[in-house]
Order: sequence, then C-alpha cells, then structure tokens
Amino acid sequence: MSTRRKPQTRTGQPTPARRGAIARVPAALRKAVCRANVEIARRGLALFTFGNASAIDRASGLVVIKPSGVPYATLKPGDLVVTDLDGRVVEGALRPSSDLATHLELYRRWPSVGAVVHTHSHFATVWAQAQQEIPCYGTTHADYFEGPVPVARALSAAEVASDYERNTGRAIVERFDGEPNTMPAVLVPGHASFVWGPTIEVALETASILEEVARMAFHTAVLNPATEPLAQTLLHKHFSRKHGPKAYYGQKG
Ligand SMILES: [Zn+2]
Repeated sequence: MSTRRKPQTRTGQPTPARRGAIARVPAALRKAVCRANVEIARRGLALFTFGNASAIDRASGLVVIKPSGVPYATLKPGDLVVTDLDGRVVEGALRPSSDLATHLELYRRWPSVGAVVHTHSHFATVWAQAQQEIPCYGTTHADYFEGPVPVARALSAAEVASDYERNTGRAIVERFDGEPNTMPAVLVPGHASFVWGPTIEVALETASILEEVARMAFHTAVLNPATEPLAQTLLHKHFSRKHGPKAYYGQKG
C-alpha cells in the first residue's frame, strides 16, 4: 500500500500536490474514514449530520476527519479534511467537523488510539442525557467493555464558553487513569458518546455495539429496576477471552 498518494478531488481524481504541503495520508485511510462516516448514518447511529468519525495516520501524525455539515449520503473520500495534531488543515477545501478538537485531544493524549467515532445514537445518548453510566448487565456488554461505560465530568461554564470542544476532550481523558485499554467508550453528560479503537473499523463496530448494549441496559433497567450488575468474575471472563494477551474467542489470525 502506497503512503505517498496524491490528494483527491471531490470526484476522486488526483490533484496536483499543494505547494508547501509535505505529508500525505494513505488513500486507503481516507477511503476507510469516508466509509465509516457513511456507515454510521446507514446503521442509524447518526441522523442528519449528528456524528463524525476520524482516524489518525501515526506515521505522519495526520488526522482524517469528516467535514462539517456535509450530509453522509453525498460524502466522498475527497471531501474529507486532513489536519495535523494542532488542527491545522493540511488537505481539503472544506472545514473540518466542529468536534475536531475533541478528537485531537484523544489522539494527543492516547498514543494507542487510531480512530475516534462520535455519534448521537439514540440509547447511548439517552444514558448520556440522564448522566448515568451504562451498567454491565450481561455478557454482550462484557464482551466489549470491561465494566460500566463511564460518564465524563460536566464542563464548567468557563470551559463551555472558551475552547469547548478541546475541553470536552480534556474531560474525557481525565475520566480515565492512563490509556483506556479496556474501556473504548465514554458518555459525555448532556451530549452523547465518544468511542475509539486501534482502527476505524474497530471503532465503528464499538459504536454499533455500544448502542445495542445501551438499548439492552435501558430495557433491562425498565423491566426490573432491581437488576444486579453482572458478577465480576463473569464480566472479566467474557472480556478477557475476547481481548488481551490470553484471548481465545474466534479464529487464530
Ligand atoms: Zn455531538
């Protein structure tokens, strides 16, 4: 796979390299991020333009993200915006997603993260609005998240007034003790969820699973408000057989 592809126009045709632009992201990554953004809409995880997916090319330190306000149905790989880790646009004619600074904060602080997906999917957003963590009631949840999906702290009025998106990222990072290797999602109170993963494909799957788990947990809590969380031993058993050094779920790579 080439890492020196030329930037694309909206029609997917290569354009001459811009003067002064040095680094390039792989075309495959641009396509994968476009596909993920289209998928979050197709899967019903984001209505209108409420959501955005990005990925980072760690070799160049460049981030590919959805442009702001462009409907998913018409999104093309050439529409995506490429920025550096400080948010300077390196490629692309459109403005990046308004949540860019949140994504960048996660990339800067967590080197193992390769992609970030933000959606307003219904049930995950319901929990975020209620400012309640999503309890782990069953093994579907435990297969992906090692414990309740946490809620980040609320921002102060000053944090909302100035540098809001970056402060959202800071509050997410603060919620974890180092890199969140066993918890690839968070609820931002009064807003919605952010999920991440090593690749855009994994982060997209996690966004789908988060919504399903949030839906199951909601109905479980309604059906029986006294439901106990899954036993810790069963929770850790399910998480560790799928993730980590001793994983044995699925077929060998
Ligand atoms: Zn949002």
